[in-house]
Amino acid sequence: MHYILLFKPVMKKFHAFIFAMMILVAGKTQDYKKVHKEAIVCDTHNDIISVTIEKGYQFDTDLTGKTHSDLNRMLQGGLDIQVFSIFCDSLQPSPYKFANREIDSLYAWIHRNPARMVLVTTPSQLQRAVTRHKLGAMLGVEGGHMIEDDISKLDSLYKRGVRYMTLTHNNNTSWATSAQNESDTLQHLPHKGLTDFGKQVVKKMNSLGMMVDLSHTGEQTFWDVIATTKKPVLVSHSNAYALCPVYRNLKDDQIKAVAKNGGVIQLNFYPRFLDSTVARRQDAFLKKHKAEKDSIMASGRDESFAEDLIYDKYSAEVAALQAPFHFLLDHLDYIVKLAGVDYVGLGGDFDGIPFTPQQLTDVTKYPLITKALMDRGYSKKDIFKIMGGNFIRVFTANTPH
Ligand SMILES: [Zn+2]
Repeated sequence: MHYILLFKPVMKKFHAFIFAMMILVAGKTQDYKKVHKEAIVCDTHNDIISVTIEKGYQFDTDLTGKTHSDLNRMLQGGLDIQVFSIFCDSLQPSPYKFANREIDSLYAWIHRNPARMVLVTTPSQLQRAVTRHKLGAMLGVEGGHMIEDDISKLDSLYKRGVRYMTLTHNNNTSWATSAQNESDTLQHLPHKGLTDFGKQVVKKMNSLGMMVDLSHTGEQTFWDVIATTKKPVLVSHSNAYALCPVYRNLKDDQIKAVAKNGGVIQLNFYPRFLDSTVARRQDAFLKKHKAEKDSIMASGRDESFAEDLIYDKYSAEVAALQAPFHFLLDHLDYIVKLAGVDYVGLGGDFDGIPFTPQQLTDVTKYPLITKALMDRGYSKKDIFKIMGGNFIRVFTANTPH
């Protein structure tokens, strides 16, 4: 009897506590979903076009388990604007032709799904896509080799809707050096940075209203562009070198220069560029399976195809390479502290990376970023900037009036 009398009030208090916690958790869950829905979510780099061409997939079908992205999952993840990467490697005999083939793919998807996606080439079209709840599809060319040293091809790409060009991929062009080549001390470079023609390309992009993207470019190219451009630059998918020293990431003085220029750095989700311990472990993994990779390549397949097969086959080992999700937020906090909240956003590189961080496993997971930002104390206003507002500012500043 006594113990019941003693116990009941405690139980009541306990139940009240659990109930309060449930309301708090439900409120928070609803909050982050609401904030995510209200934000204009923009991602500036996704390689699904190349994957669909290579593997014969259709973007507007369910590709769950096969890719990081498809149309339904992008909408489910609350993505408002996705910049689709137009990419081919420099070994393609006609990179410009291949780029156009990729653009044709995106056009076909839009044509087949007018109620769910729309091409975006101006900030006002962007706003219209958002109010109509369609995925706004933008185009970015990843690698200056696709203009084949011909400035008139820039005009043609612009006319087809391309709104950024990454000046180099991992390879140099005849007019700009890449981060990979500049950081390779053994390689002799005929020039470093932008040539005169490279400066003309930047000026032409400025006058057209095509954003200059500095992901993948070498440090000298970066500084030459900063001295040449009259418009804010985009860094479409790169992170902070101080936290993860790989040649593709930006050093502190580069981050500050992007802020001074009014540009934006869009964070890449690739664990190799987020967590400094991944490169060593990933290289060991690939070394361990080298004989198998070589035998796949001996059958006539290229290196990236062979590596994809290895990553798929040994998925349990790959899971151990997935950096914890917090690394992405750490890079974000770092840039915010160094340069300010106006200069950072998202360029996940989904379907261009062989594996993702933990939790952030495909395009449906963008709301987790909003949640993590709220957990770290970012205001709604700042979350809106990070999730897309900063990119929209740069896009608008580059668009001729
Ligand atoms: Zn890239």
